[in-house]
Amino acid sequence: MNPSRSLLVIGLLVAHAASAAPDLIIANVRIVDVTQGVVTAPADVSIEHGRISAISPVADAERDVPRIEAAGAFLAPGYWDMHVHLNHPTLAERWALPLFLASGVVAVRDMAGDCLTPGCKNNIKFMRDLQRRIDTNVILGPRIVAISSAIVNGPRAAEPGDPAWATPATYEQGRALARRMKARGVDFIKPYDTLPRDAYFGMMDEARRLGLPVSGHIPHAVSTLEALAAGQRGIEHAKHPAVDCSRFSRTFRDVVASWTAGDSPRIYRSWADPARGDENLGSFYPLMLATFDASICQNVIAGMASSSSYYIPTLITRKFEAFGDDVDFLDDSRLRLVPASIRSAWQKDSANFQRRFQDPQEKRSYVDFYELAMRLVGQAHEAGVHMLVGTDSSDSYCFPGSGFHDELKELSRAGLSNQAILFAATAAAAQYMGQADRVGTVSVGKQAELVLLDANPLEDIANAARIRAVIRNGKVLDAKMLSDLEANVARFVAEPESQN
Ligand SMILES: [Zn+2]
Repeated sequence: MNPSRSLLVIGLLVAHAASAAPDLIIANVRIVDVTQGVVTAPADVSIEHGRISAISPVADAERDVPRIEAAGAFLAPGYWDMHVHLNHPTLAERWALPLFLASGVVAVRDMAGDCLTPGCKNNIKFMRDLQRRIDTNVILGPRIVAISSAIVNGPRAAEPGDPAWATPATYEQGRALARRMKARGVDFIKPYDTLPRDAYFGMMDEARRLGLPVSGHIPHAVSTLEALAAGQRGIEHAKHPAVDCSRFSRTFRDVVASWTAGDSPRIYRSWADPARGDENLGSFYPLMLATFDASICQNVIAGMASSSSYYIPTLITRKFEAFGDDVDFLDDSRLRLVPASIRSAWQKDSANFQRRFQDPQEKRSYVDFYELAMRLVGQAHEAGVHMLVGTDSSDSYCFPGSGFHDELKELSRAGLSNQAILFAATAAAAQYMGQADRVGTVSVGKQAELVLLDANPLEDIANAARIRAVIRNGKVLDAKMLSDLEANVARFVAEPESQN
């Protein structure tokens, strides 16, 4: 550093210490308290070095301090989408990340942040780099709060090119996998549907020893209560607990367990591949729905409520499965903001459901399952299960950003109060990540990760989408900047580059 430059730096520091002026005041704003479910009287919120330094009675403008005149608008903590897939280096940067911010999502957890196939670009190295570039404001995006392993399945689901250790079958192989994942530097392990029981329990034991969290699907050969006892921290998708609520669940688990262990070729249609010699047992949804048992269910939900694990229902994924054949549902104006490559994957998915749902009973079972899953989410909430908001963006019809607000509406339909939904969308996620002391509410001393809203989201959850500005990482994104983000995405979607 040359002498004149160092003098300048000292000068700035002295000036700052002398005045202790905030960098920004959000004036005359009502604060949304997501814990108590109330809004405060209008106040001035001062922000200094990206932190909330004071919340004080409304006062006249101080000279030289930049202000946002909120005129009684509402200030809430920024939103956390705890189940996303950023997937692709270009699409993350030019498509999903700006759309998240434009919808008030200031933090995301990536649920398949590593890739083990040789030559694969969307791996942990890319994700760490993306995380760093966001943190240093090189690119605009929500904070990436955690990056998962590649999904962990059993040998039945091995993809060509995947290393053998990545699809464990035995207890010891499960333990070895946890060590490998730790060495790759991921933040947590994500298990998937067809992981064999032995491998799952080996992985869980070793992950616990290593202090590596596990969050994801519960493998179908394992029950919800077993997964909770083994220490799984996050249960994704409103699927597994619903399956466990039936008298058929025991048979279902046994069938899947012996198929995943390689002992039997008999398996339900979701996984059956005749080319591999599987014997297709048909759909399990009708069996499960016909044998639903409220008393079994109560036990499952009580187990979830008494554990310290979190439930991330992603109800919009269940909704797509139920209505993936419905032209009205599929005709969504937001598709104009979806790159052709993603759109065609979504179309393939819906074509699949259109084929399947030519059997009306099959259609019925998916709609009923969606309704059941929603009912159980309401019951789980009432029982005190910790909940987070996740979308599974960019799975079919899980729109990055705006899909978050779709999920809030689903949770409202499930019976959660607006306060409970907002809490799950903000403070609960900060708690889950062990960051509640520095983010997740609008409080003095916390980082300013905020959304300024035109209307009170505690009155109507749809108001959570009425965003006037987003404040995060020391930057204010006003309404014009947020709409520019969307316009940039529209331009990108029109480019040939977005087709890949
Ligand atoms: Zn997912």
